[in-house]
Amino acid sequence: MNGPDFARRDAEDPLAALREHFDLPPDVVYLDGNSLGALPRNVAARIERTVLNEWGTDLVAGWNRHDWIGLPERVGERIAPLLGAEPGQVLCCDSISVNLFKLLSAALALKPGRPVILSEAGNFPTDLYMAEGLQTLLGPGRCELRRLPADRVLEGLDEDVAVLMLTHVDFRTGHRHNMQAITRAAHAAGALVLWDLAHSAGVMPLSLDDSGADLAVGCGYKYLNGGPGAPAFLYVAKRHQQAAGQPLAGWMGHSRPFAFAPDYEPAGGIRRYLAGTPGILGMAAMDAALDVFEGVSMEAVRRKSLALTRCFIEALDALGLPGVRLLTPRDGPSRGSQVSLAHRDGYAVVQAMIERRVIADFREPDIMRFGFSPLYNRFADVQLASETLASVLADGAYREARFRQRARVT
Ligand SMILES: *Cc1c(COP(=O)(O)O)cnc(C)c1O
Repeated sequence: MNGPDFARRDAEDPLAALREHFDLPPDVVYLDGNSLGALPRNVAARIERTVLNEWGTDLVAGWNRHDWIGLPERVGERIAPLLGAEPGQVLCCDSISVNLFKLLSAALALKPGRPVILSEAGNFPTDLYMAEGLQTLLGPGRCELRRLPADRVLEGLDEDVAVLMLTHVDFRTGHRHNMQAITRAAHAAGALVLWDLAHSAGVMPLSLDDSGADLAVGCGYKYLNGGPGAPAFLYVAKRHQQAAGQPLAGWMGHSRPFAFAPDYEPAGGIRRYLAGTPGILGMAAMDAALDVFEGVSMEAVRRKSLALTRCFIEALDALGLPGVRLLTPRDGPSRGSQVSLAHRDGYAVVQAMIERRVIADFREPDIMRFGFSPLYNRFADVQLASETLASVLADGAYREARFRQRARVT
């Protein structure tokens, strides 16, 4: 593709107008929405209203008057259609890490006599850490984490496995699993499936209900644009909710929290997966951020996502960049919404690109990640990013020592 082609694609893009819903700094190409989504324009006004008109004016009455108490479910119901989930199965709360603890515990309880949590060795570290923590807490015989390489993980399905825990789109490579087929394979082996949708929700249509998924978690601050540290979400298929308890039995998950009863009695539906009081400011931002998705076809979002990533891969092919290796599948159905490239000096190259106003990120050991958010990224961004990468590599600017200084957050 050359310049005019990129311009034509933007002119013909049916989602182009959605970019107006975001407040992006001028002259920045933002390709890190898979780490922190951009700021939707209506979020600041909503936060101000929640603080001044609700909290500041109505004080404690806000819990009822503005239904703060109902936000985890209400926001969950707005996320549900993005996941292909019928009502009553999604809750917006806590972080992915905490939600994993709740749902992995629930999965083990649903499958007595099966102690194994099966996962990929390369899964996102917090997913593995939470399973390890549970293993330490419960002890061998009640919880064992089994990790296998990605291409062999299904070989680990045996009669000891309670739950197969996978991240739908790999955060390093952008490889996407076949949710339908893997869920079927796990069920055939008598195991449950827990999907981590951190790099899927908000960027492609999903079908948790139709694929028969049991459990899922996902992220509020990536493609859902809920803001730094936004609350995450969890999904529990209706058929499991009655039987599946969870150990973080806080009062917000009680059937009658304001009865202040001495004993715990879980709420009837999805609310039982709450623990403590929700952070209302973060919830309000998350709720406002979801407005952008109203009336948007997720099939159209996926089409644009695949077109953006394909254009980027083709532009890189045409440039023939030395020392750069594509890690992301070329095959569309196997790809999420990012393009990952390996380069020996990946960290420094990304820092030099950021100085030239193209924001991507780096993941150990040598991975440069370019995340594409179809709601606000343009084909012009693809062009600028590929050209900037080529110029940084060509002029060797990345070799300067200052680009090797690691920050706390990469
Ligand atoms: C971003 C991400 C997380 C984040 O977990 P938190 O506990 O919400 O910080 C977890 N898992 C995956 C796969 C991620 O990409």
